[in-house]
Amino acid sequence: MHALVKHSHSSLDVTVTRRRRPSPGPGQVLVRTEAVGLCGSDVHAWRQDPGYEWVAPPVTLGHEAVGIVEDTADDVDPAWRGRRVVPISIDGCGTCRVCGGGQRQICPRRTVLGLSFDGAAAEAFTVDADRLVAVDPQLPATALALTEPLAIAVHAVARLTTQAGPTPMEVVVTGPGPIGLMAATLLHDQGHKVTVVGTAQDRAVRLELAAGLGLRTSEGEDLPVDPPLWLEASGAGAALATAVGRTAVGGTIVVPALFARIPTVDINLITRRELSVRGSYGATRKDYEAAAAHIGCDPERWARFVSVFPLAEATSALERISQGDVNKAVLLP
Ligand SMILES: [Zn+2]
Ligand SMILES: [Zn+2]
Repeated sequence: MHALVKHSHSSLDVTVTRRRRPSPGPGQVLVRTEAVGLCGSDVHAWRQDPGYEWVAPPVTLGHEAVGIVEDTADDVDPAWRGRRVVPISIDGCGTCRVCGGGQRQICPRRTVLGLSFDGAAAEAFTVDADRLVAVDPQLPATALALTEPLAIAVHAVARLTTQAGPTPMEVVVTGPGPIGLMAATLLHDQGHKVTVVGTAQDRAVRLELAAGLGLRTSEGEDLPVDPPLWLEASGAGAALATAVGRTAVGGTIVVPALFARIPTVDINLITRRELSVRGSYGATRKDYEAAAAHIGCDPERWARFVSVFPLAEATSALERISQGDVNKAVLLP
């Protein structure tokens, strides 16, 4: 079968190549891939950016998948066969205190589909059955490929709004990539006044989509005064510094972004202004279920995020993502 493989720790050593079709090991299922999204972490792995040394090549990339279960191991419920599923991309050991608390995505022994082990950017892939989320067999696969990134946005929005007062509130979202834009859309749906902030480079594609979704956009000018909530999804140190300087006293900053360069932040501002700065990583099973339900409510709207590429053109899709030319690239095997 064809698969998008990272061959070595060298930068850009990623090609679509032939690999043996896998068969499910104990506890696993074989899934025929219908669609698989690529994202920032695939670009980081492709470029071999700092912080991705732990990825063990050769590895098939792809963790934002939807597909049909074709085969099950002997110890897995055969009722999974024929069902449409989304795999949980980041999952824990299932036995430690963190997993027991329902936060499997931050388990110290977590693994990532398509980075820790072979992923879904291929005609088929194997995955542990306990990572499966059953999804609607009727919806378009290209929309359901957004379940994983939308779950991450659902998680970040929950981290931002759990301690917040009544809606509507002013919210700033820096970074109009897929996670930022999806989170902004969810916050807008909840009735908040959302401003999406990007750079001049984001104008043509990302801020254009944001405006088309009914969101207020900014290239850094006219930021709302004293927003109590701020979501930093850009991964740029300057954006985080702005968030720390501009969020209202007592406000909350949630950071789902990872930074290629570790930013310097004025901790005295965080202290004197009593800001809550909270990380947000991955998503829980409940977040996946919420994301799949959001897609079911309005698949056409979520499909507007997607640019479709054949699997054979995966490396040009990675280039387009890194240039900010597409919002969400989804591969069809
Ligand atoms: Zn992703
Ligand atoms: Zn664990």
